[in-house]
Amino acid sequence: MITYSIGLKNKFRGITVREGMLFEGPAGWAEWSPFLDYDDATAVSWWRAAREAAYDGWPAPVRDVVPVNCTVPAVGPERAAELVRASGCRTAKVKVAEPGQTLADDLARVAAVRDAIGSGQVRIDANGLWSVDEAVRALRELSRFELEYVEQPCAAVEDLATVRRRTDVLVAADESIRRAEDPLLVKKLDAADIAVLKVQPIGGVRACLEIAEQIGLPVVVSSALETSVGIAAGVALAAALPELPYACGLATVSMFTSEVVSEPLLPVDGFLPVRRVTPDQLAANRAAADRNAVWEERLSRVQQRSAE
Ligand SMILES: [Mg+2]
Repeated sequence: MITYSIGLKNKFRGITVREGMLFEGPAGWAEWSPFLDYDDATAVSWWRAAREAAYDGWPAPVRDVVPVNCTVPAVGPERAAELVRASGCRTAKVKVAEPGQTLADDLARVAAVRDAIGSGQVRIDANGLWSVDEAVRALRELSRFELEYVEQPCAAVEDLATVRRRTDVLVAADESIRRAEDPLLVKKLDAADIAVLKVQPIGGVRACLEIAEQIGLPVVVSSALETSVGIAAGVALAAALPELPYACGLATVSMFTSEVVSEPLLPVDGFLPVRRVTPDQLAANRAAADRNAVWEERLSRVQQRSAE
């Protein structure tokens, strides 16, 4: 078990450094990297995903490349356009509803992204930070940029359902699936048009495939901001899904200042290759001893919980 620590180019979900653990099993390398603000109970499904990657491997792929979007954090319009152009992707996901910012900031950022991507797709992600009224109002303004969909406009699944009925923009559920006690509630309440699935939070590639089948919605596979080792699991899920109508949110390695592999899973012309990776740059990205101790301790608590 090796703990990595890698800087982020821009602050993301309030963090500037990403940490996690990497280890190798008979099936290949695995990543375990629940965010530090997640409790042990939440981190159990992340551990199941890592165990699957290391010991079971993943189902056979039905495609050999996966289309991906670039991610635009809550940066200014010039930087947003730069990120889109540098990515080469034909789909961009723009973070909106950032605390401390206004709808005017979102409009400027989305306008810049629409301009930079031309005839490509623009989707937005509010991470559940709008109220129903704020969401409806924001979507009324933002829809002039021809949005592919809005991801998690509000936090509560009931609110998601309400927003969906009050806007023409397609609604994708993210947190409402991976952080919910019942991921299928989204389906029962008709709260979304699209399901965003993330391998670690949901507990592995197979667990995601099962949810995809039960929920009966088109799936967008997204990362949990992992190194290429963790991204490979997301790619495996995207590669195994029977249908993949949307670009996936798996091009997030570019948000890191450094990587554990010399050939990171970065998109070429908007696509990621379907392959496993072996970290050959671990030494340079190792966490300090005190951080390693924190992670070792966390892992043993979560493993114990997972065995209960
Ligand atoms: Mg999201």
